[in-house]
Amino acid sequence: MKALVKHSPKVGIWMEDVPIPECGTNEVKIKITHTGICGSDLHIYQWDEWAQRTLKLPLVIGHEFCGIIEEIGPGVSHCKVGDRVSGEGHITCGFCRNCRAGKRHLCHKTTGVGIQRSGAFSEFLVIPESNVWPIHNTIASEIAAFFDPFGNAVHTALSYNTVGEDVLITGAGPIGIMCASICKFVGARNVVITDINEYRLDLAKKLGATKAINISKEKIEDCFEELNIINGFDVGLEVSGNPSAFNNLLSKMYNGGNVALLGLLPKSTQINWDDIIFKGLHIKGIYGREMYETWYKMTQMLQSGLDISKILTHELPVDDFQKAFDIMESGKCGKVVLKW
Ligand code: NAD
Ligand code: ZN
Repeated sequence: MKALVKHSPKVGIWMEDVPIPECGTNEVKIKITHTGICGSDLHIYQWDEWAQRTLKLPLVIGHEFCGIIEEIGPGVSHCKVGDRVSGEGHITCGFCRNCRAGKRHLCHKTTGVGIQRSGAFSEFLVIPESNVWPIHNTIASEIAAFFDPFGNAVHTALSYNTVGEDVLITGAGPIGIMCASICKFVGARNVVITDINEYRLDLAKKLGATKAINISKEKIEDCFEELNIINGFDVGLEVSGNPSAFNNLLSKMYNGGNVALLGLLPKSTQINWDDIIFKGLHIKGIYGREMYETWYKMTQMLQSGLDISKILTHELPVDDFQKAFDIMESGKCGKVVLKW
């Protein structure tokens, strides 16, 4: 079968012919129709320090997908051949304390599709049945293709009550922008988002942000008067992975505020601890999606009117994968989806 393989330890990704994976007990084989390119796929493409220490080559990469079930293995009880599905890319042990407590997103033995095991950028993908998420017929496949990062956004944005609150989001990547849409949808008063990329700030406004601030030109507090913000933000979502953005966010929080951290910050990140201690901030790290409460919320919110479709800015045939990675590298994009 055709697959996008990270073959060599250098910049690039290569289309190759690889064996079709076997469908074992309690597993399903999915014929992939659409895949989304994640920021981490770009890191793998660029072969940065994180990719070098995380991946064992060669590897079929990719973890954002939608497809049709082609085959079911022995023991599969709910999925049927022909079902249109996406799926959770974190494979958990099912047996540790957190898994048994229904908190599988906190499993300490998690492995990632397209990171530690064969990925979704291929004609067929095999995953455990318990990781499959059925896609309702009201939801388009090109949207379902990026349920994984949409789930990161839902997990982050719903971590705290934002009804009537002022929310600051640092980083207008696809996930930050989807966070903005969700916060507005659930009833935040103001959603202010920052970035340094004008294309993405424009996109954030189209998806519902009250104010999109280019931090290289303006200060966040410049909007306080206009938005009637007195002492700072009630909820802060760090979705850039940039240390200076994180410090900026902490300094703009109101006392007692709630902060969620999704962006992957460098180990060397320093912060002003006074902002956390004297302000009594609550800080929560976010990893992946809650299994499977986040997936329910994703589906139900789309069915109750949340519209994230404008975040999909580029849809290309898979044979144009190089063009797709070039677009990702340019930063002039929201989600980029490949059709298989
Ligand atoms: P992305 O890289 O597309 O977006 C990050 C954005 O931050 C970019 O648009 C960039 O221009 C912006 N940025 C850079 N410096 C900034 C600054 N000083 N102030 C404000 N914005 C700034 O990433 P994404 O796919 O949207 O993901 C967001 C972050 O979440 C990344 O760090 C990613 O690695 C991380 N992530 C974490 C998890 C998890 O489970 N914790 C899952 C997925 C992604
Ligand atoms: Zn576990």
